Amino acid sequence: MTSEGLPDLRHEPHPNPTPAAERDRLIANPVFGTVFTDHMFQMTWTEGRGWHSATVKPYGPLQLSPAAAVLHYAQEIFEGLKAYRYPDGGIGLFRAEANARRLNLSADRMAMPHLPEEWFLASIRELLAVDGDWVPSQEESSLYLRPYMFASEAFLGVRPAKEFTYLVIASPAAAYFKNGPKPLNLWVSEEYNRAGPGGTGAAKCGGNYAASLLPQSEAIEHGCDQVVFLDAVEYKYVDELGGMNLFFVNENDRVVHTPKLGTILPGITRDAILTLAAEAGWEVRETRYSIDRWRDEADSGVLSEAFACGTAAVITPVGTVKSRNGEFKINGGEAGKFTMQLRQAILDLQHGRAEDTHGWTT
Ligand code: PMP
Repeated sequence: MTSEGLPDLRHEPHPNPTPAAERDRLIANPVFGTVFTDHMFQMTWTEGRGWHSATVKPYGPLQLSPAAAVLHYAQEIFEGLKAYRYPDGGIGLFRAEANARRLNLSADRMAMPHLPEEWFLASIRELLAVDGDWVPSQEESSLYLRPYMFASEAFLGVRPAKEFTYLVIASPAAAYFKNGPKPLNLWVSEEYNRAGPGGTGAAKCGGNYAASLLPQSEAIEHGCDQVVFLDAVEYKYVDELGGMNLFFVNENDRVVHTPKLGTILPGITRDAILTLAAEAGWEVRETRYSIDRWRDEADSGVLSEAFACGTAAVITPVGTVKSRNGEFKINGGEAGKFTMQLRQAILDLQHGRAEDTHGWTT
């Protein structure tokens, strides 16, 4: 990665960076998303001028017009990835190029400008160059990176904005599960959908998450961890969770199913799993998978395991699926062998403990 070409790159070092002892205390046991590093990266896009004014500056409040288009029409996209502390003390990223590509796919759908992939990577490199000491070294911990872009033009007309702000902030993250993954309880939303054909389901835009909050609260009211969204046409096929993709494992036939792309977020963990499972000799099918089939195959035992995946919790077994019509368990509600092996394989790659034969790590 090089930072060459980041337009007008300037460094404004923090005048009072967090003292090392305080920083080490903060990263030892952080509550996710509440603690941020000393700096952030910021850059602006203006119509006719393109990207300019790249700056690494102290983390702090933004100055934004009350008329900024994002506050009214939600023209906003984001990414989520992690920086890991390697055993040799270095810092690694996992498939960051895929996040750069996905940001631009989201930008296309939301009528926003592309960010050159090398500048996405360079923005992260610049932030880690000043705040690299915030990457924790405890087992399964990481520094969560949040690159995002929003319409900062002050204009109330409904059209694509003529000015955008791109930022990267970073927040230390502890292991998602302290004592190994706990099988998820899922709630099937029969009243609300996440995305329909032609909608924004494949884009990582803030609005998708705003719309998921009510069904997610419903899931929590029913004692569940996450909501399962079904397709918006037939209310029959499984799409994904509020913040994770899903996989279904048939050990007897050595087949894994996962919902096909279209209305779901093209998860980077999902993509890595498709590759690793195929290499391990499993047949991988990207297909439609109905909620009725899920229940039937779980009950009959054809479905040996199901798991959810995403950057936050890597791979997590699904134990129980609940809906207004009752509930069913997968593998007796326990984590399965394939799920746990795959989870370990991905963790080892992410944390630099396994040989990277795919060119996935930076
Ligand atoms: N689906 C949704 C809706 C998500 O928010 C996420 C998390 N980014 C995922 C799937 C998983 O994607 P990834 O593996 O790239 O984190």
